[in-house]
Amino acid sequence: MAHEKHPLTLYTDRLKSGGDIEEIDETIDPSCLGVQASDDVTITAPITIYGQAYVVDEYLVLDLNITTEIKIPCAFCNDEFVLPIKLKHAVHEESLDEIKHGAFDAAAVVREMIYLEVPLYPQCGGSSCLRRSEVEKYLKKEEVSEGYQPFIDI
Ligand SMILES: [Zn+2]
Repeated sequence: MAHEKHPLTLYTDRLKSGGDIEEIDETIDPSCLGVQASDDVTITAPITIYGQAYVVDEYLVLDLNITTEIKIPCAFCNDEFVLPIKLKHAVHEESLDEIKHGAFDAAAVVREMIYLEVPLYPQCGGSSCLRRSEVEKYLKKEEVSEGYQPFIDI
C-alpha cells in the first residue's frame, strides 16, 4: 500500500497501545514547516530533528533536538545575519484530547521551538553587533549636536 507519511506525523494510537517510544531522526526542508510565522525570520538550512515521542498518561510527549540556521536582522544595525540554532531536549506535551484521529503533525511544534530561539535583541556578532562602534559613533554625533532642535518652531 502506498501510504505517504509526512516525516513529522506521529501516530498516537500505536504509541498508546504499545507504550512504545518512537525514535525521530529526520532532516527536513524548511518548507515542510509550512508558512513561516514572521517575515523577519527565515529558516535557511535543512532542519535536523532527532529525539523521541512517547505517551505518558494522557499526553503525547516530544523530546527533540533540533539543529538548523535562521537568518534574522540585527536589532542594532539591521544587517541580516545567520544564527545557528542548536536546541537540546526541547520538550513539548500535547494533550491526546487535542489530537484528532490519532495523528499529530509536529511541524507546528518544531516551528515554534525554532522561533522561540530567536533572541529579543538579536545582534549580528552573536553577543554584540559587529558594527556597534560604527553605529555608536553615529549615535554620539547625534547626541552632541544639541543645537539641532528640529521641532523648536512648532
Ligand atoms: Zn549588527
